[in-house]
Amino acid sequence: MNDVHSNPLLKCKGLPNFSNIFPEHVEPAITFLLEDLEKEFSRLESGVQPTWVSLVEPLDQISARLEWTWGVVSHLVMVKNSPEWRKVHEAMEPKIVAFSSRAGQSRPLYEAYVSLKSGSDWATCDVAQKRIVESYIRDAELSGVALTGGIKERFNAVQIELADLATKFSNNVLDATKSFDMDLTTKEEVSGLPPSLLSLASQISKNAGMDSTPETGPWRITLDFPAYGPFMQHSRRRDLREKVFRAFVGRASEGESNNNPLIERILALRQEKARLLGYNSFAELSLSRKMALSVSNVENLLEELRAISFDAAHREFDELRQYAKAEGAAEGTDFQPWDAAFWSERHFEKSFGFTDEQLRPYFALPNVLDGLFGLTRDLFGMTVEPADGEAPVWHPDVRFFRIYDDKKELVASFYLDSYSRPQEKQGGAWMDKCIGRAKGIEEGKSIFQKPVAYLICNQTPPVDDKPSLMTFREVETLFHEFGHGLQHMLTKVDYPAAAGINNVEWDAVELPSQFMENWCYDRETLFGMAKHWQTGEVLPEEFYQKLLTARKFMSGSGMLRQIHLGLVDIELHHRYEPGGKETPSGVRRRLAVHTTVMAPISGDEFLCAFSHIFAGGYAAGYYSYKWAEVLSADAFSAFEEVGLENRTAVRELGFKFRDTILGLGGGLHPMEVYRAFRGRDPESKALLKQAGLLKQ
Ligand code: ZN
Repeated sequence: MNDVHSNPLLKCKGLPNFSNIFPEHVEPAITFLLEDLEKEFSRLESGVQPTWVSLVEPLDQISARLEWTWGVVSHLVMVKNSPEWRKVHEAMEPKIVAFSSRAGQSRPLYEAYVSLKSGSDWATCDVAQKRIVESYIRDAELSGVALTGGIKERFNAVQIELADLATKFSNNVLDATKSFDMDLTTKEEVSGLPPSLLSLASQISKNAGMDSTPETGPWRITLDFPAYGPFMQHSRRRDLREKVFRAFVGRASEGESNNNPLIERILALRQEKARLLGYNSFAELSLSRKMALSVSNVENLLEELRAISFDAAHREFDELRQYAKAEGAAEGTDFQPWDAAFWSERHFEKSFGFTDEQLRPYFALPNVLDGLFGLTRDLFGMTVEPADGEAPVWHPDVRFFRIYDDKKELVASFYLDSYSRPQEKQGGAWMDKCIGRAKGIEEGKSIFQKPVAYLICNQTPPVDDKPSLMTFREVETLFHEFGHGLQHMLTKVDYPAAAGINNVEWDAVELPSQFMENWCYDRETLFGMAKHWQTGEVLPEEFYQKLLTARKFMSGSGMLRQIHLGLVDIELHHRYEPGGKETPSGVRRRLAVHTTVMAPISGDEFLCAFSHIFAGGYAAGYYSYKWAEVLSADAFSAFEEVGLENRTAVRELGFKFRDTILGLGGGLHPMEVYRAFRGRDPESKALLKQAGLLKQ
């Protein structure tokens, strides 16, 4: 096992041999690899020349080896989790992080990149190369590499304290979430709860050492979303909804896990960090590496959407109140925040009268894949072919496919791991890179490495003789992840640092994925795949119409909520003055006047649990959700404009999408990529129309 030559994790190129990789390979492989890369890196640092060939390429090769090996390990931890895998991953992760930050903060490399930019080689660099160099310089500067003396020391101290605060913040949220539970013991107390929630609540009770069955209880409700969300939607006990709601919005706002002081400290330190780096605010720092570029661009967009969704959300809530009143509920005259999810759900059921379960038989995975691959052929001229058995896989259910262009040339390949395996596989769905595109000279030989992607979903597995029958949401998810995969796989960029999704700005990265979701609502695409798995009967028109309408249900309120959070995030990171008269919570309440339908109740301290911006990567970036939706809806509307039924025009536009949005990767600023596809800047009209918020 300690023989590094036979360690499958040190192959560092080509498809991983999944059938032979075990947790015990990790430590020797990573130890050997890091030692080796450390040596190479030091050699690069000491003899560095400011040219593309002697600076960027060797650095790419170092990154490529690390990404290959660590990529396989991280992947297996997600899809083959076990105590052994978790242990080796946890043990090695800090070493990987340390190496990566050393590489990103190397002063000699930074100086070489700066010289490259001002030297004679610069004129020979193409646009993508220039962007790679500029991104490196910017990211290095944001990590403090250009600072000196006392300023640098202070910067490093701020960084360390911020990392520590982020950990404390999320631990407080976890602790506060765990500290609440509510045990229900009578049928009356669980009135309205669906069987899936009763099962979950009974399981939670069992995990806590109680004797419980889904039929007899006791049922434990917690503030974890899988229990909290459905409880608020379905519980008929208004008093219990209030109790759970108050606990949820008050999380981590008092006592030992009080996040309020942490929020103030985080905001003050972020502001200081931004100023040390020469920015006026943390929002400006954050936006310097995003597509939106400036606070005013973000705020203008959010305001455009706000002005329309604010009125719509008020109308939607009025309707809910009216509906509650008509049903004879007290909420009709005294509607409270803990009534919103419940009545919205009742109203939905009444208006649409169909459930996820009813649609499943029309969405069998094999038919859905045919539909998705057919669309890929029609839109992008790419053929997807099964290649099962041609690549080792980590589970017998995993499939392998190859993508060919119209000349039958191999373009890329991907793994598809579709089914949920709760005992070993992380929930959710994602696309990840297995191998990235790279073309160049390595050890005197020219190489052309074609991209390989992991597409991971968590849908219902096949049971007995039935294929996997998907909910419509699961179909959308598959299209979404495939969209990310297409950007990784159809890239035309040969420089690894800007190929596929690499070097694509955070707020632009969801464009291809959300774009693909739109096709699930396209008549031709949908009816091409929605066929009853036994009878072959096509999805009834009535259901299609309902899907189209359901997409617009409560869309104003949904949009307004995201705008509220997005604007609060920007305000806190741009105009808020730490230590001033207004508290962060006060900022939120001031903005809530024109960004919510029901003002936050006293005790609603949602910021204290807003981990996205205080413990995650979304600081001054929460708006990205809406930004990317605007882009994807606007991109899709180009297809509607030429007429979705005009398949020749659609294909022509599809090729353009392939060659710009999917092809150019991070080699060009996303606004220029967008303009190359759309011929103009993005507009929000298409998203508003899609949400049913614009009169046509
Ligand atoms: Zn995504």
